[in-house]
Amino acid sequence: MSDPDVIVVGGGVSGLSAAWWLAQAGCSVEIWEQDGRLGGKIATRQADGYLTERAASMMLNFRPEVSQLLAATGLDVGRIACPSAPQCQRYLVRGGRLVPVPMRLGALVRSSLWTLGGKLRLLAEPLVPRGGRPDETVSEFVVRRLGREVLETAMEPFVAGPLASDPDQASAHAVLPRLVALERRYGSLVIGASVRRFLRRGTAPVREMFSFGGGMATLTRALAATAGVRFRARSTALRLEPARSGWRLDGQTPAGGLTVRARQLVLSVPAPAAAALLRPLDVGLGHLLHGIEYSALTVVHLAFDRSAIRHPLDGLGFLVPRGEGLPLTGCQWMSSTFPSRAPRGKALLTCYVGGARVPQARDWTDGRCIDAAMASLEPLLGIEAAPERVWIDRHTSGLPLYHGAYAGRLRAMSERLRSWPGLHLAANYWGGVSVRDRIACGHATASRVHTSLARSRLSASVTGLDSPPVPAVPRSLG
Ligand SMILES: Cc1cc2nc3c(=O)[nH]c(=O)nc-3n(C[C@H](O)[C@H](O)[C@H](O)COP(=O)(O)OP(=O)(O)OC[C@H]3O[C@@H](n4cnc5c(N)ncnc54)[C@H](O)[C@@H]3O)c2cc1C
Repeated sequence: MSDPDVIVVGGGVSGLSAAWWLAQAGCSVEIWEQDGRLGGKIATRQADGYLTERAASMMLNFRPEVSQLLAATGLDVGRIACPSAPQCQRYLVRGGRLVPVPMRLGALVRSSLWTLGGKLRLLAEPLVPRGGRPDETVSEFVVRRLGREVLETAMEPFVAGPLASDPDQASAHAVLPRLVALERRYGSLVIGASVRRFLRRGTAPVREMFSFGGGMATLTRALAATAGVRFRARSTALRLEPARSGWRLDGQTPAGGLTVRARQLVLSVPAPAAAALLRPLDVGLGHLLHGIEYSALTVVHLAFDRSAIRHPLDGLGFLVPRGEGLPLTGCQWMSSTFPSRAPRGKALLTCYVGGARVPQARDWTDGRCIDAAMASLEPLLGIEAAPERVWIDRHTSGLPLYHGAYAGRLRAMSERLRSWPGLHLAANYWGGVSVRDRIACGHATASRVHTSLARSRLSASVTGLDSPPVPAVPRSLG
């Protein structure tokens, strides 16, 4: 069998997306995945009329690359959209009660979430001068621009919930790159966002929240079925080294040890696994990767008879600010967001326990995680019965934390990668953890691979070495 153009190590959504874009460019790709299935963290469970997700449960998209991939794979047809306003209401816990998050200026002015001083501070944002250090934290950035109340009641729960991170430690440049860029360019988030909206009127990408009828595994299954991509299951990459005109990968497969060569290598494994593979080659790069922290996260899915919950569940769910002292960071009302995920007459609630805010939850038993979820939910939602079904998904290394001087760390990693032509890092510790960002980064990685292939062909023709032709690049990758 001939060597592939590219080996992708890691069959999570990062690796699958990179492979998909590479296949569109005509590259032959081989994916090595140590598990027996593709998808990595993403996995969908279906049982007795319920559908639960091990990790990502939905996508929020505004990137054209994602729309392009969904259209090309036919996945846009099978999407199920989250409800639109007013059913897409989100809540925050405030003083032990659920308070709607204002979605419009009028609602913000009337909202009980912020004091009058907090609202005036928020509205004064355009008057705040540019500033901030390069390694400013999320908390420092938000307090400086929008005030402490916005940090505590809006940004902190968002960073602690969906990102499982800590705004006091997370890098503003890495976690809020779009907001930081708005300040840098326009001097104000409010003015910058308005100018952008005005400039992009008519062409602005639509923000959509959705999943798929068969859950998020529909996406990873479709990517895995891409023509031109070969999938090696239960194949663990153990050693890599540069070889003549490319890379050599040694690993363990069900049939025994295996060595494969390819002109380019994409590592789409979590940072500790990438560190282990790279340390023998480049101690510095291995050290930078090894220093990336991960938070543990436990997902508790609880199913109830609908009549057991007094709250109308009229929205997507709620986030919990740290000041409330609850062990949950948030709860998604899955059966309200996607009614097909629970049988008629039942309610499915998905709770998130742990993250950087409650690191000790890593060691809690399943029973303690369920008790913690129930103790938080009962008073907030008026729950009058025990759950009828419970599923638990534990992630000991759930999400990478973009903590500390993260932008500097990534810059140093880019610098070191220059010494290793044909080697690329593409996983959720770089460029965003969301599935949207993983697909967009897959596109960027494929573009870099293509450039690198073109360069190696040029140098091969100069040195007289044999090198296969570079595959044609579709316009979308150019
Ligand atoms: C609880 C939770 C909820 C989330 N919710 C959302 C959400 O609602 N929306 C959203 O957009 N995002 C969400 N995310 C984020 C998103 O799911 C992840 O960031 C994304 O799935 C990570 O993909 P990845 O490919 O980078 O990593 P992974 O999925 O971890 O894939 C890495 C793969 O590499 C393999 N591997 C490791 N070492 C080797 C080796 N040596 N050889 C071969 N293979 C190897 C692993 O087996 C794994 O399959 C959530 C994440 C979590 C944990």
